[in-house]
This record gives sequence, C-alpha cells and structure tokens, in this order.
Amino acid sequence: MGRSSLRARPVAGALLACACAWLAAGGCAGPKRLPSVVVSPRPGPGVEATPEPVVPPPAADVPEHPVAPPIPWLEPAEPLRLLGVGLLEDRPRLELRAEGAAWVRDADSGHTLAALEAGEPLACTRAGEDVAWRAGGEEGRARSIALQPIDPGFLVSAPGGSYRGDFLVLPTPRGTGLTLVNNVELEDYLKGVVPWEIGRHDDTKFDALCAQAVAARTYTVARIGSRQARGFDLYATVMDQVYKGATGEDARCNEAIATTAPLVLRHGGREIEAYYSACCGGSSCAVSEVWPKPDLPYLRRVADKPEQGGDAWCGGSPYYHWRETWSARELERILQRTLPEYVEYMAQGGGAWGGVAYTPARGGSAGRPGALRQLEIKRRTPSGRVAELAIVMDAGTYHVRGDRARWVLTPASGNLAILRSALFEVEVVRDDDRLREVSVRGRGFGHGIGLCQTGALGMAAAGRSWRDILAHYYPGATLDAVTRQER
Ligand SMILES: [Zn+2]
Repeated sequence: MGRSSLRARPVAGALLACACAWLAAGGCAGPKRLPSVVVSPRPGPGVEATPEPVVPPPAADVPEHPVAPPIPWLEPAEPLRLLGVGLLEDRPRLELRAEGAAWVRDADSGHTLAALEAGEPLACTRAGEDVAWRAGGEEGRARSIALQPIDPGFLVSAPGGSYRGDFLVLPTPRGTGLTLVNNVELEDYLKGVVPWEIGRHDDTKFDALCAQAVAARTYTVARIGSRQARGFDLYATVMDQVYKGATGEDARCNEAIATTAPLVLRHGGREIEAYYSACCGGSSCAVSEVWPKPDLPYLRRVADKPEQGGDAWCGGSPYYHWRETWSARELERILQRTLPEYVEYMAQGGGAWGGVAYTPARGGSAGRPGALRQLEIKRRTPSGRVAELAIVMDAGTYHVRGDRARWVLTPASGNLAILRSALFEVEVVRDDDRLREVSVRGRGFGHGIGLCQTGALGMAAAGRSWRDILAHYYPGATLDAVTRQER
C-alpha cells in the first residue's frame, strides 16, 4: 500500500468509476473500466492552438500535456484502498482550483469536458437533478462532474483547504445543492486525519502516532461503503474521522503512517470496529455500556494503567478531570429541548436498549418537561459510566440511558455541544427545597471505547511500542495487511 510518491497512479479512474457505480446502481460495485472516449473542446493546458502540421511531429515534440491523453481509467495494478470522503453537502455553489493543469470530466461517461490551466476555476451549481458547470471557457450540465489534476502531485484547492487526489461534484441526494467528494488513496487520506485526531507530538510519543495510524486505517477500511447512499464513504468530520486534506499535514504523523502501512487490525477475518476517543478517564468500556449496540470481543473494558498498577496512562490529560456547572434555571432551559429529543431518539434507534424512556406524572407530556425537580444516577456500568440517569421534571421522570446523558446534559456555555463523557457524578445544591445549582464532576473525554488517545501518548512516553499499545486497547485483535477492496 503505497506512499503516493512511490507508485504510479492508475487510481483516479478507478475512484471515479467506483463513485459512478454508486450513483448509477445505488451501490459500490468496485473499480470498473470506463469507456476511453475523449471529447476535448479546446487545446489542453499549455498547448498553443497551431495549424495542422504537414508531417506528424517527432515524438520528442509531443507536448507534455497532450490535447487528448488516454483516460487513466485503469484497473489498479496492485492492491489498493480507495475512498471517497464527503467534504461538503447541499452547497448552492462550489469552486475548485488545481495548482497545476487539470481535466474536467463527465464522471459518468469519462468524457473530457474541459482542460484547465493551473489556478483556473471549475465552478458548479445545481441545475435540477444535474450539475451545471463552468470551466476553461466551456460550460454545460452533467449528472456529476470530476476534476482530475494531470499530475497526481498537484493539490486541489477547495472550500476548507488543499487536498490530494481527485474531486467529484454531484447533486446532494434528497437535497437542493451539491455534494463535494474528495477521492483519495487510503494512505494519503490518513495523512489528513492522524494529526487532527491525535495532534502533533515529539519523538517520545512516536509510537502513539503509529497506534493512531493503525486505528484510523482500520476504522477507515471497515467503513468503506458505509455512507454510499450519500455518494461517499466517510464524512470528513467527527461523524467519522476529522480530515483536512493536505492542510496541516505533519511530518512525524506521515512517518507513523508509512511505518505502519499497510497494517490493519483484524478479528474473525475482517477489520475490527476500531473506535477510539480522546481520554477514557481511567477505564475504557464495552460498546453496550454507552450505546444500544451489541458488544464486540475486542472492545472490552480495560483498566487504563500499567499491569503493576499506578497512575492511569491518561492521568496527565487535561480531560482527565473536569467539572460542568449549571444554574437550575439554565439547565431547566436546556432540558426543555434535550429531553423531548431524547424521548424521540428512544422511539427510534435508541429503543434497542429496551426499557421505559419516560414515566409521565399526572397530566404530564414528554414534549413539555416543565420545571426541574431532581437528578439522580440510578445505575452505573461496570466501568463506572452512567447506565441510567433519572431526571425528574414536572411532566414526569425521564430515564436517560448510557451515553445519551451527554446529549441531555449539554454544557451551558463554551464550544462543546455535548457533555465530555458519561463517567460522572452529579451534585445538586438546594436553597431550602428549591434547586439552585447542578454540577457534574467527570473524567475523560469521548465515548471511552477502544483506544484512549491520551493513554496511548502516555504509554508511548513510557517506552511502550505501538504494537503493545494496540494490544492493550484492542485485546485479541491481530495485525494484518490490508487487502484488496472486497466489499
Ligand atoms: Zn485512558
């Protein structure tokens, strides 16, 4: 599995073919060979329009970027992982610029529509169920549009940064705007993920970067195709993994990615669900402790500390201890929104947990919680996380399960949309019989399943290898080379 600098690039066509197959058939059928039909309405980049020569020019005179090059819609010559990363959805307008010459193509047919000079824009808007495009003095409409730099080393500037690989613009399914997809090789994708997920660190933490690279590679491979109804594989956000393309790449993270390529974690013959989070607060947890999903054998509760005891590997994390405080009035206002959302969530997918989400008081309605009376943790999971939080309101009692407590007790201020973790204690301050203030004292940041990023940094600093780190957080999983896309 290559660093892009070490291998030829027969991939762009396969990527686009893959994306096209999704669009056409509603599913990813894997790389296909597209028809090698080329329609070039004008000379290519760097090529002057010249009178037809009387005799064919010698080979040495063939311009560097010929007018009609063969479309590189070739089958990969070696096992590859290719993926489409959804950067934006439902945008009214998109503009892309490659730093070098690039082709604009109809992504369904492979036809070349226009050739762009370095820095020339491709502008797209939505036109009914099509993409209306304008590029290099040409314009038209197509079901989807591809932008493909002639040299794979050229970056493409898109909203949000600069990116390696090719681009696909398509109508957002069930939307009115456009979706922007970055089609990129797995190893190049990881370069845009690892520094944003675990940060930039010195050499003493190098093995944590390696462990993060393997976890991210595994998560990615396991998720290829999981968002295909949207026209891509993964979101470029915390919905999947934060990805910012070539913007902010880090040399040490790139080295960790190269060191661990092409390894992924496997169990039972397939890639594991390699969840990871910022800080486990001293103990990771099983899946069912926080989500209404079945447990997995390699995602177990792990005490995040040395075998011989001592401080938690993540004990030095700024997220290890935290506190969140609301006035009763503030929290009451937040709960008017989050408790009805919770009841709705439980009526949908969250119902897999079973049990009662809401017990009404006389005349109470789940959609109108009213005044806050009491909060009490009723049950805890084996790792100490909240299994059930009872919130007593005028309208009745809401039985908040697992990680959803984080969505219900949202911070009153700051940038956090949800509470840092479900590993917390509740403190209630009363004036006589009235609630005055609610505080939550917690540990950790994130769901707590799988690799603890700050714990991995602690283990690396203590001299543990990246293989030891992975074995600690994903017990029973084995390292294996990524294989040809089989899903
Ligand atoms: Zn930890």
